[in-house]
Amino acid sequence: MLRQYELVERVKAYDPNADEALLNRAYVYTVQKHGSQKRASGDPYFSHPVEVAGLMTDLKLDQETIATALLHDTVEDTLATIGDIEANFGPDIARLVDGVTKLSKIETMPENERAAENLRKFLLAMSEDIRVLLVKLGDRLHNMRTLHFIKSPDKRRRIARETMEIYAPLAERVGMYEYMREMQALAFEQLEPEAYATLTGRLDQLRSQDHGQVDKVALAMKQALAAAGLSVTVWGREKQPYSIWRKMAERHVAFDQVTDIMAFRVICQSTGDCYRALGVLHTVWQFLPGRFKDYISTPKSNGYKSLHTALIYENSMRVEVQIRTGDMHHTNEFGLAAHWAYKQGDRPDGQVGWLRDLIEIVDASHDAEELLENTKMAIYQDRIFAFTPKGALFQLPKGATAVDFAFAVHTALGAHTVGVKINGRHVPLRTPLENGDVVEIVKGASAEPQLSWLAFVSTGKARAAIRRAVRAKERAEVVEIGRRIFEEIADRLPAKVGRKAIRSALERLGLEDEDDLLHAIGAARLTTREVMEALVPGSTADMPEEPGQKRAISIKGLRPGVPFQLADCCHPVPGDRIVGLEQAAGPEQSGEVAVHVIDCPVLADQAGADWLDLSWGDRTTGAVGRLRAVLYHRTGTLAEMAGIFAKNNANVIGLDLTERREDPFHTYVVDLEVQDLAHLTRILSSLRASDSVAEAERV
Ligand code: MN
Repeated sequence: MLRQYELVERVKAYDPNADEALLNRAYVYTVQKHGSQKRASGDPYFSHPVEVAGLMTDLKLDQETIATALLHDTVEDTLATIGDIEANFGPDIARLVDGVTKLSKIETMPENERAAENLRKFLLAMSEDIRVLLVKLGDRLHNMRTLHFIKSPDKRRRIARETMEIYAPLAERVGMYEYMREMQALAFEQLEPEAYATLTGRLDQLRSQDHGQVDKVALAMKQALAAAGLSVTVWGREKQPYSIWRKMAERHVAFDQVTDIMAFRVICQSTGDCYRALGVLHTVWQFLPGRFKDYISTPKSNGYKSLHTALIYENSMRVEVQIRTGDMHHTNEFGLAAHWAYKQGDRPDGQVGWLRDLIEIVDASHDAEELLENTKMAIYQDRIFAFTPKGALFQLPKGATAVDFAFAVHTALGAHTVGVKINGRHVPLRTPLENGDVVEIVKGASAEPQLSWLAFVSTGKARAAIRRAVRAKERAEVVEIGRRIFEEIADRLPAKVGRKAIRSALERLGLEDEDDLLHAIGAARLTTREVMEALVPGSTADMPEEPGQKRAISIKGLRPGVPFQLADCCHPVPGDRIVGLEQAAGPEQSGEVAVHVIDCPVLADQAGADWLDLSWGDRTTGAVGRLRAVLYHRTGTLAEMAGIFAKNNANVIGLDLTERREDPFHTYVVDLEVQDLAHLTRILSSLRASDSVAEAERV
């Protein structure tokens, strides 16, 4: 294990200005917090964060990243909190540690909940700062290196599979090929133990037969290049069992047929030398057509630069060759990490969203397919990934709230939401979720979706479910009004109304079921008389005409034959002082007269016009008064208002919910057929006396 002073010296070697005290504090803090905890290897637990910090120094990362690596498991596995980290190490390091802690949540999720692709997206979206991702990859690499200490084979396989499916591809995504290869090699050993044993055996055998072939080929290349005046370094290696195994699987061939077992790297001093070296190698040895790739003139989207070719050595052996400069090599092996470490000096703020780095690279890429691949990644930045308390992962658009989350989990859960806890704390329902939040929905058996939620939900699913529920509830209220009116109608009938009468009434009226009938009555689409006739045909023969059946409005003070209309703005009823306004007349006929209440605001606007002094005729019936009522928004208030209208013999012509204020109030505008002003006034007084009504006034 790296000792404290060694770690500090490593950082000082590439960053002489590093804050030694900070690194020492972080080292001591992790040792203290992890205390006597042990790893599966029997080592003290703190050896793990210290090794991860060591890996980060290999990447030459800044002191904040080194401190984060040291502290990365303290919040997850010890009593330390993010608040403690912030108090001791400041907000930047606290944010990074928090990021790594959240990434670790993925490992506690039940396996069936996490599709690998989903998880890779999650990790990318979570890693707003690439340093978080780098620490996480270092953490995983070290855990893989020590995987063989874990006793349970199931657990080893689970961790290996996770590494193969999630972390190795992720390392590849960000260009960290060295991490990727080592993770794959270690995971392969666990996942395919037999294949691993066979391949390792065959490779050992080959090595003992060919007496240092790799070194021989490397030397031959170096000599050929030196003869052409090129000073290079050549590295040769046998391929990893995993990459041979993958080749066998991809090409459906046996081990003996995998001919390119050896791979070489030629490190040149300049880009020009790379192309010159390529020319020399292609002249001295035969090359395989179709295997040459120029990633220097067209780098991969993650910044990878190199020339690739394959040669036939001594007429039989295929060898792969990669040619690149030392700078290219460093960037290639450590990808965005190298990019980040290299560029941080330019940045006054010392940190940057890793996505911006990625975009720079994407911009430099000419490969449409790779570009598309990376644009897809940018899309995840608009997503939020949140968990249920049991660890199921849900993907939502940025800005989504707990209510969206509840409906995403299940429509029934959304419908019964009364409150929410995010990361264990009660918060308002409208709180936007953040990546990695654990969202616990508090349910209520009788809770129902609220219209006010529409103001903050952002998913279509939640929106549609809320609308549906509110509509159903409104319908239920209208049905309830209909039931009150229906009971009064039934009382007036000579015979008792039974099932049979209702069934035949439904048939006559062309309605589906009883609820439809009650809804039609409640919404004033059927008059009392129509309902009575449908239930008991002939029952209304002797009844006097109902108001509304025959509207008889007469107005005195008009010239004979002049058409008139009661104005829509003030809805005059008998008893109101009224005046007439002649509408603009055409050339051949005199205009219609609009009848207004004398204090109607429309009249004030037309002060220049001639007012006709009018009065009501004696037998006027069926005038429509309009009123506004503000009801408490709870079950039954609308039905009670309808009952008041029925008791006062006022026919409802129209009922509109005009304004839904946030609970507890709803405002309705009601058009009522009334006998006169006194009748309307009586109704208003009854409304005001009711517990269900907050306000009632004439419009
Ligand atoms: Mn760890």
